[in-house]
Amino acid sequence: MIAPVTCPIRSSSLPPAIALVKKFPSEASPTSAIRPDYLSPSSAKSYLSCSLRFFFEKVAQIRKPTTVALHVGKAIHATLQSFNIARWRGEDSSETAMEEAFSAHFLELEKAEGPVDYADEETRQKVRSCAWNTVKAYMASNEVVSQMPLGVEVGLSAIIPGLPVPVRGVIDLVQHDLTAVDYKSAAAKPDAGHAAFDHELQLVTYQMMIEEATGDTPPSLDLIYLVKTKTPQVIRVKTPPANEQRKQRITDLYRIAYEGITTERFHPQPGMQCSWCQYMKECSGWYRQ
Ligand code: SF4
Repeated sequence: MIAPVTCPIRSSSLPPAIALVKKFPSEASPTSAIRPDYLSPSSAKSYLSCSLRFFFEKVAQIRKPTTVALHVGKAIHATLQSFNIARWRGEDSSETAMEEAFSAHFLELEKAEGPVDYADEETRQKVRSCAWNTVKAYMASNEVVSQMPLGVEVGLSAIIPGLPVPVRGVIDLVQHDLTAVDYKSAAAKPDAGHAAFDHELQLVTYQMMIEEATGDTPPSLDLIYLVKTKTPQVIRVKTPPANEQRKQRITDLYRIAYEGITTERFHPQPGMQCSWCQYMKECSGWYRQ
């Protein structure tokens, strides 16, 4: 997470999008106001994926309507958290209790983070029903291990050599054997190799955090995909723990992200991610002064 930074251009008489791009710093600035207290795997990945989109979202904090996929993903995630906490505490984790929890999360997130860009109420109801069926499929699956987890929503940090700030993250679930688990919701079945590669930064960070906290290496770094197909699927993608070379690679990525953020290096990085980027309008006005 990045500490909020006030964008000085908002007070300009220019339209906000144009005003923003006119003030983009293009050179390293020793007086940069952007000094995050820590980095998270998601903030580093966001910066590395497209630094300009990172700027719009985290620095200028330009709000956009919540996408349907994001809203559903958060509602599913919050319900799984309620489910795991209830199991951990020995409380009611029945389907009825979790359906109530899901309904509450779905509505709360709409209020707190909306508006959500549903086409109409019928679409919203269909999406809601599909999301709940996906949660039910997980609760009925073999992926719910019988042993109690060591922790749910475990907030940890790690010191990365050469990085002036710590890296912090929240692990969805730490199993009894120290396996780190992160939940993902997806519209289609993932390719296992691609999924592990895509989430390497997050997974190896979790390993480093667990090692720092316990002195032990987790036996596996897992992603559990909840696939929102007509018949929902639950797929676990396992990744072996990282060796020193893989950890060094992640360390270097954090250093690059931190240096880029604090020297205010923000520029377009066109690619596949532009198809779902909500800042295309702002981006198209960018140029280097
Ligand atoms: S449209 Fe593409 S290049 Fe521009 S900010 Fe978005 S992701 Fe980056």
